[in-house]
Amino acid sequence: MVSMAVIGFDTTVFPRLDYRDPDAFWRQIEAISAFFAEYESRLGTVFKNAPALMAAFEKLDPLIDSYTNRVCPYCGTVCCANKFGFPEFADVVGFIALGLEIPGYDLNVDENEVCQFIGEKGCVLPRPQRPYRCTWYFCDPLLVQLEIGPARDYRNFISDLQELSRARGEVLRSFFQVWEEKGTDRR
Ligand code: SF4
Ligand code: SF4
Repeated sequence: MVSMAVIGFDTTVFPRLDYRDPDAFWRQIEAISAFFAEYESRLGTVFKNAPALMAAFEKLDPLIDSYTNRVCPYCGTVCCANKFGFPEFADVVGFIALGLEIPGYDLNVDENEVCQFIGEKGCVLPRPQRPYRCTWYFCDPLLVQLEIGPARDYRNFISDLQELSRARGEVLRSFFQVWEEKGTDRR
């Protein structure tokens, strides 16, 4: 299985976004956007760290796609459900730091039905615009594909995942420093 040192950032310090309460959900997203606008000059380190995060996503994306393209078409229990396609607070911070639009989530969907972002060829969102959990989910068939390949490819893959975790951690840590300093409401 994928085992590696955790070098990211503990995102539980951020509030929970409740996709079951659409008004509150969108208010929180607007508040994050407003925070970025108000403290843009203080968030320079966030934007300085963002290109490394984008580069890490771009490096991993084709590799992960090559594995999912191999196994997902034959899957009988597709993992992409609406509830997994909704973002966490930290995902939204990442989207804004990377200059990405917040996807137009339809919250009035069955959370257990197939995710609204599934298209004919898989997820229609670019990887950096998906919830982070979507990149980090490795089902058993995917893990098998990873493990049966050359050891060097596997090591490189783990190293790229670690870089993604590190780069995202830097973005979130630098955001959190300002956010905490401003004593923002954490509910
Ligand atoms: S990632 Fe795994 S569980 Fe999800 S659709 Fe692909 S094969 Fe199925
Ligand atoms: S990968 Fe895309 S389609 Fe799958 S749960 Fe995530 S956002 Fe939805």
